[in-house]
Amino acid sequence: MSESRIGAGGLPSSTLLDAGLLPPGAELRRLATGATWSEGPLWMPGTGRVRWSDIPGDRILEVDPDGGDLVVHRTAVEFTNGRTLDASGAVVQCSHGRRSVELESADGEVTTLVDRWQGRRLNSPNDVVVARDGTIWFTDPPYGITQPREGHPGTREYGGCHVFHFDPVSGTLDAIVTDMEEPNGLAFSPDEGILYVSDTSQGLPDPGHIRAHRLEGGRVVESWIHARIDPGVSDGFRVDTEGRIWTSAGDGVHVIGSDGRELGRIPVPEVVANLCFGGADGRDLFIAATTSVYAIRTTVRDVARGAA
Ligand code: MG
Repeated sequence: MSESRIGAGGLPSSTLLDAGLLPPGAELRRLATGATWSEGPLWMPGTGRVRWSDIPGDRILEVDPDGGDLVVHRTAVEFTNGRTLDASGAVVQCSHGRRSVELESADGEVTTLVDRWQGRRLNSPNDVVVARDGTIWFTDPPYGITQPREGHPGTREYGGCHVFHFDPVSGTLDAIVTDMEEPNGLAFSPDEGILYVSDTSQGLPDPGHIRAHRLEGGRVVESWIHARIDPGVSDGFRVDTEGRIWTSAGDGVHVIGSDGRELGRIPVPEVVANLCFGGADGRDLFIAATTSVYAIRTTVRDVARGAA
């Protein structure tokens, strides 16, 4: 379906407007609907579309933000989840079903990048970022092997749920964060000195919090809870050029300052899973929320490589 404006109750926090993070009159728009559970949004600069995963629907969808129908990009995709672009512009994405991180070329050819650590299968890679040096960082919670709608039943072959660092040149896979319950979304601070990772385990005292991991030489030297998300959880998030975190939450999008304090919220009428920046100038925020993808104009841009 084409876009439609969202009714009463959808106004962003005035603090976001006052801080100049949203332009005056910024409005949430619904671009498309009809998915089951939406995740892994990515702005595709080559086509000007937003691509995302309908995980239980086992398909990859796209929509043109300027109007047009929902496009089914591919079906039977083995339950893809988060995705990003590498330096060449190829899509790097997580597959629950293949328990892998894979590359999808512009012509749709899929190549497995990594699916094992120390000889054991990964759980179900969930979200992925590419660092400036071209290496790939991803989370590996169990949802694709524990939730039948989101993959195939399986066991945790290496026992934990780690955050991994993969070097596509050498093929080396290292576990970097090994003490989180169910790491999910991840993104770097602007200088890549801090890796933010959300934990969506419901068994935690603070389900849905975002942890900050200070990195030195590719190792975690310090770690702390950066922000607590309420209601709901931080499934996925992005960091802007000033180090603010734009995260999913149960009631919409929360914006967190680099000091961890909340700056404001963008209400969304469906539970949000993940989001990305994009559009012609990179300042549109695209929001994957349950059955739909929404958009709102901002004044900021993603700091990460691969973002528009
Ligand atoms: Mg996720």
